[in-house]
Amino acid sequence: MAVFVEEYLGKIYQRQVSDSSEAVWCDQWWRHGEAVARLDALWWAWEGLHHDERGGLSYWLLRHADPHMKQLFDPRGPFKYCGVRNGHRDVLGPLPIEPPPDGVFDQMNGERPDGWIYPNVVEFVENYLCMVYRRQVTDTSDSAWCPQWWQHTEAVVRLDALWRAWEFCRQDPQQGLSKWFLKHADPQMEQLFNPRGPFKYCTVRAGHQSQVNLLPITMEPSGMFTDPDPSLG
Ligand SMILES: [Zn+2]
Ligand SMILES: [Zn+2]
Repeated sequence: MAVFVEEYLGKIYQRQVSDSSEAVWCDQWWRHGEAVARLDALWWAWEGLHHDERGGLSYWLLRHADPHMKQLFDPRGPFKYCGVRNGHRDVLGPLPIEPPPDGVFDQMNGERPDGWIYPNVVEFVENYLCMVYRRQVTDTSDSAWCPQWWQHTEAVVRLDALWRAWEFCRQDPQQGLSKWFLKHADPQMEQLFNPRGPFKYCTVRAGHQSQVNLLPITMEPSGMFTDPDPSLG
């Protein structure tokens, strides 16, 4: 895989990375769990697609390589503090999280399909997701984050769905993980990290703030929507 990155990807993606406002790169990419996970997924997808004469390589470039490289080159991404001039800097730690109180997720520890790696969303978030998505979250103008993510119904629903998608996608050894990142994880995390999103009032320093309320809803006039006729069911 390192050969694939050095000899293949590195030659295709020649970018201006010495001025970090445009694109950032870390020459020690292998020190970044996210970069390793994405580039490994990219390599597997390449192995599965490059022989396909019906446009496999084009598909791989557009649907796999370009979006992953965009994430890695992003000045707010995993290489934020690294650079060609400064070299690697070990600044970004795992996303800070506090474990939920006992009992909060007990109902989620029910049955799971055979072969799943994580028993529930909490274990998935603690042991995988937070390790992979290392972002600058203490200065919230960049990305918002709440260490008590489990206090936010939206985060619980999105991350639970993300865990299930991961368990499903990884069963496709070639394109599975690459698709999981691009089609599920990146868009979901973008919603959560959005400074105007569900974690708007929470910060890593001050902790969880219960400011975001349910969407206000006034009861609709009676008869406006008719319930489905139960006799038709
Ligand atoms: Zn680095
Ligand atoms: Zn919060």
